[in-house]
Amino acid sequence: MYKVLDAILTVIFPPRCPSCEDIISYRQFQTRGFCEECATKITPVRGRICDICGAPLRGNEDGVLCGNCVRRRNNIHYLQGRALFEYSGPMKQAMYRFKASHRTGLRKFFIKSVRKNRNLYRWISRHNFDAVVPVPMFHDKVRRRGYNQALLLAREISREFDIPLRDDLVERIEDTKPMKELTEAERKNNLKNAFKNRTIGVKLNRILLIDDIFTTGGTIEEVSHALVDAGVKQVYFLVMCIGRTDKKRGTSYGCTDM
Ligand SMILES: [Zn+2]
Ligand SMILES: [Zn+2]
Repeated sequence: MYKVLDAILTVIFPPRCPSCEDIISYRQFQTRGFCEECATKITPVRGRICDICGAPLRGNEDGVLCGNCVRRRNNIHYLQGRALFEYSGPMKQAMYRFKASHRTGLRKFFIKSVRKNRNLYRWISRHNFDAVVPVPMFHDKVRRRGYNQALLLAREISREFDIPLRDDLVERIEDTKPMKELTEAERKNNLKNAFKNRTIGVKLNRILLIDDIFTTGGTIEEVSHALVDAGVKQVYFLVMCIGRTDKKRGTSYGCTDM
């Protein structure tokens, strides 16, 4: 019976792999989200992770922080963050389509992955967040694209954990250039003054900031800064993917910010 239903649904609503766009069975879509081949190439974040940004630690990093957080830890306004997947392999293509091609179904894969990740689920639950806040997008861009992918993800978290969604606290007041076209110094400047708090005196103790990708951490930092200026006491973040940039070797597994 299940197989028949699977076949019928596959014909009526043929789901596609969010990375390679191959048609996959409804059952495969429900259980793994991606086609068989892409699913095996996705790397969930697990094992030793950085205590601040949540990036997987490399073999030569024997402390609790990654090299990037050791460098920036005195200049950040967020306390801690977690990520579901490494920004590599099929996730890169899937994230691109999520942003650029209206493949918004990825938000369902995101929330299912949160449910499956017991450590992460507990991490969100035990922090008792007062609000979920999406990284804002420049209003013109939202109009052009039709949606802000961070807001779609934030809505899923808000529903799942019954935490109020607040997308009225900060706004993006400048459209920035795609980060992948810039050097590290240009990236910092690019984001300066890109975000602004829309209000002050916010009485929120602890919030969870949501974005799709964390690479240099510049966007998360600038939004966190604006939120703290607005009156939020503690900012934590959750992203779907985390990629790391390495000062010496350049980008290690990808970097983009659209
Ligand atoms: Zn695929
Ligand atoms: Zn880190």
